[in-house]
Amino acid sequence: MENFLKTHSIDKFLDFPHLLHAFSPRGFDRGNGVYQELLLGRTADSKVSQQHRQLLLESLNIESKDLFLVHQVHGDRVYILDNPERSSGEVEQIEADALVTDLMGKPIAVLTADCVPVILYDPEKHVAGVIHAGRKGTQMNIVSKVISVFVKTYGSCPESLRLAFGPAIGRCCYEVDDSCIEPFRHTYPDWRSFVTPNAEGGFMLDLLKANESDALNGGLLQENIHYSGECTSCHNDRWFSYRREGTTGRILSLVMLRRLPGKV
Ligand SMILES: [Zn+2]
Repeated sequence: MENFLKTHSIDKFLDFPHLLHAFSPRGFDRGNGVYQELLLGRTADSKVSQQHRQLLLESLNIESKDLFLVHQVHGDRVYILDNPERSSGEVEQIEADALVTDLMGKPIAVLTADCVPVILYDPEKHVAGVIHAGRKGTQMNIVSKVISVFVKTYGSCPESLRLAFGPAIGRCCYEVDDSCIEPFRHTYPDWRSFVTPNAEGGFMLDLLKANESDALNGGLLQENIHYSGECTSCHNDRWFSYRREGTTGRILSLVMLRRLPGKV
């Protein structure tokens, strides 16, 4: 079948032949130029979302019929997928906002619309993670918590880790009030580097930069952090944006470890 569903990727992450990653677009060509929204989230009609999730997996040539998502709750819990027998249905009941695995051939993913999707990869240990970093998760330092899981569970060196930020709301569009900024003052000594007061008495919050700060704090090297450069709100034609639209679809950010040669 022709690959009609075009996902977004981060160039620097294409250098790893044993890693597959993708960010799902807002819609796809259903054929004959007919546009259809890609509905992958939990709120969508479950039949449609199951169908669309399968379409996405097929478009990426992923053999697995299972797509591993967790029940996201804007927290900081990390789910480690270490049991190859676990079904995706079971995993989707688990409350967490990040998944980590060293199992090959198992796609793990998060759903976002403005919140920051983060993909983390250790090319040395061949371990992958995916994170839903919304404002609350970011305030709770979810990225550095996931880095700690890589270090403690898999013996990763933070300097070896690669990080990719997917499409998210940019500082250009993310205006918040003081109550949203307050928690950052407690968990980020450098919070001023990503908060800019605006003329209306509010603040422009750079959630990507906050997460970058958290990643650097966790030991990542600046040169190993990569951005999609896509603002979900500016480019609402390409991405779902909760802020801009209210009830809407979700971007699915996926990562999967491919089998290493010689390993079963
Ligand atoms: Zn923007």
